[in-house]
Amino acid sequence: MEQTFIMIKPDGVQRGLVGEIIGRFEKKGFTLKGLKFITVDQAFAEKHYADLSAKPFFNGLVEYIVSGPVVAMVWEGKNVVTTGRKIIGATNPAESAPGTIRGDYAIDIGRNVIHGSDAVESARKEIALWFPEGIAEWRSSQHSWIYE
Ligand code: UDP
Ligand code: MG
Repeated sequence: MEQTFIMIKPDGVQRGLVGEIIGRFEKKGFTLKGLKFITVDQAFAEKHYADLSAKPFFNGLVEYIVSGPVVAMVWEGKNVVTTGRKIIGATNPAESAPGTIRGDYAIDIGRNVIHGSDAVESARKEIALWFPEGIAEWRSSQHSWIYE
C-alpha cells in the first residue's frame, strides 16, 4: 500500500492545529503508520529540502522548519501521496481552495502549516530520512469498511 510523509510545520504546532490536521487524514480513511514530535537541526532541514537548495527562499525555509517542534508522520492508503497533496492544498495559501488545510488555516506561503511528499519516490526518501528506525506494522480493523 502507498505511503506518504506528512509534516506539521512549527507554525501548525504553535497554532494548535495538530489535532485538526491529524483528524482530517484519519477521517478520510488513511492509516497512521508513524508519528513523532521532533525539533530538527539546520543540517537535517537542509537535507529534507535539498532539492530546493538553489531557491531564493531556501535559507528562510530552513530557518522556519528549525524554529520549533514539528509533527512528522507516515500515512498509508490508496493514492495517499496525490490525495494527501489535495487535502493539504496548493503551496501558496492564497491559491489553496477553501476546504484544504492551507486554504482554511494559512495566509502566507512561508507559513503554510504543513508539508506533504509530492511523489511516491520522494515519499520513500523522506520516510527513510525521518524514520530511519522504521515504522509500525499494523492493519486497521476498519480496512474492509474503507476499501471494497
Ligand atoms: N516556499 C516559500 N516560498 C516560495 C515557495 C515555497 O517559502 O516561493 C516554502 C513553502 O513553505 C513550501 C516549501 O517552501 O511549502 C517547499 O516548497 P515546495 O515548492 O516543495 O512546496 P510544497 O511541496 O510544500 O507545496
Ligand atoms: Mg514540496
